[in-house]
Amino acid sequence: MTTQRMVISDANSGLTMSIAITRPESALFSPKPLVSPSGYLTKKMLLKKLESFTNGAKINNLIEAMRASSPTRRATDSDDHNSWTLRHPSAISMFDEIMRASIGKQIVVFLDYDGTLSPIVDDPDCAFMTNEMREAVKDVAKLFPTAIVSGRCRAKVYNFVRLPELYYAGSHGMDIKGPSKGHRKGNPVLCQPAREFLPMIDEVHKALVEKIKYIPGALVENNKFCLSVHYRRVEEKRWVELADQVKLVIKDYQELKLSQGRKVLEIRPMIKWDKGNALEFLLESLGYAESNKVFPVYIGDDRTDEDAFKVLRNRGQGLGILVSKVPKETNASYSLQEPSEVMQFLKRLMEWHGKGCPY
Ligand SMILES: [Mg+2]
Repeated sequence: MTTQRMVISDANSGLTMSIAITRPESALFSPKPLVSPSGYLTKKMLLKKLESFTNGAKINNLIEAMRASSPTRRATDSDDHNSWTLRHPSAISMFDEIMRASIGKQIVVFLDYDGTLSPIVDDPDCAFMTNEMREAVKDVAKLFPTAIVSGRCRAKVYNFVRLPELYYAGSHGMDIKGPSKGHRKGNPVLCQPAREFLPMIDEVHKALVEKIKYIPGALVENNKFCLSVHYRRVEEKRWVELADQVKLVIKDYQELKLSQGRKVLEIRPMIKWDKGNALEFLLESLGYAESNKVFPVYIGDDRTDEDAFKVLRNRGQGLGILVSKVPKETNASYSLQEPSEVMQFLKRLMEWHGKGCPY
C-alpha cells in the first residue's frame, strides 16, 4: 500500500483539510477471514472477508458476508440479547441520565436516513419517512444544528427529507452542504473531497448496470461519489452470480473499494473519508473542532455509521446510538430498536429542551 496526503481547501467555507488517499500496489486486499469469539462478525472481520474475495479467494467469503449483513439471519438468543442490551441500553429508558452530560453544552444532532428515519424497504426508491417523523426532525432542527448523514446521493436524500434548514452529508459524507433556509441559512459549508473520482464512478455505474441487468431484483444506485448495489430483492441463490459480476467490473479499478452495508454492496473511492470524517468536518464548521462545549448526538443503523460512533468514542463526547433490534458489534453506547423509537427519542429531546434542561 502507498499512502498519499491530499490537501483540500474549500473556497466557500474557508476550511482546509488534509486527507489520506491509499492506493494499493498489487493486490487490493489480504485473505484469511475470521469469526469473532462472540459469534458475530466485526466490521474488521467482515471487511477481511470482502477483501479476500477481491483478492481472488473463494467467492464463498463474500456470500457469507452478504448473509451476515441480514439481521434476520443472525442469532437472536435471548441471553445474548439481554447481555447486549446491558452493554448498549435503550437511549429512551436511559434518557434523563444520559442527557445530564449535555448540560451547558451545544447539542448537535446527526441522523442517518435509511433504517433510522425511514424503514428498510424492498425498493430503495420507496424508503419514505412519515410526515410525523419529518415534523419531529423539523422541530429538533429549530433547537439544534441538525445534519442528515447518508450513503445516498445528497439530492436523493434531500428529496426524501425535504427540510432545507438541515445540513446534508450525502455519499457517506463525501458531499456535504449547509442549510439553504432557516437561521443558519447562508452557512457556506460545502465539502466534496472525492470530486476527482466523479468520471470514474459514472463509468463504473454504467458498466455495473450493464453487467447485472440480467439478475432479477438487482439494482445499482448512483450516489454520485459512490455506488450501491442493492440485493435485498435478489433471490439468495443468485447472490454468487451478482457478487461475481460486481467483482468483474471493479477489478480494473484499484482506486475503488468494496464494502458491505445492510443488503447492499457499496463501491467507493479509496480515500480516507467516511461518515466519521463528515461528523468532524461539520463540528469544525460549526466552530466546535476542539471544543468541549459540544454534545454531538449521532443516530444510525448501519456499519458505515460505526465510523461516526468511533469518532465520538475517541473524542469522549456525546452520544452514539445504534438502531437495531438484534445484537451487533458496535461502537455506539446506546441503542434504539427501530425508526419509531428514533422519533420518540427526538420528541423527548424537544420536551427536555422545552423544560429548560431540568437539572
Ligand atoms: Mg442506514
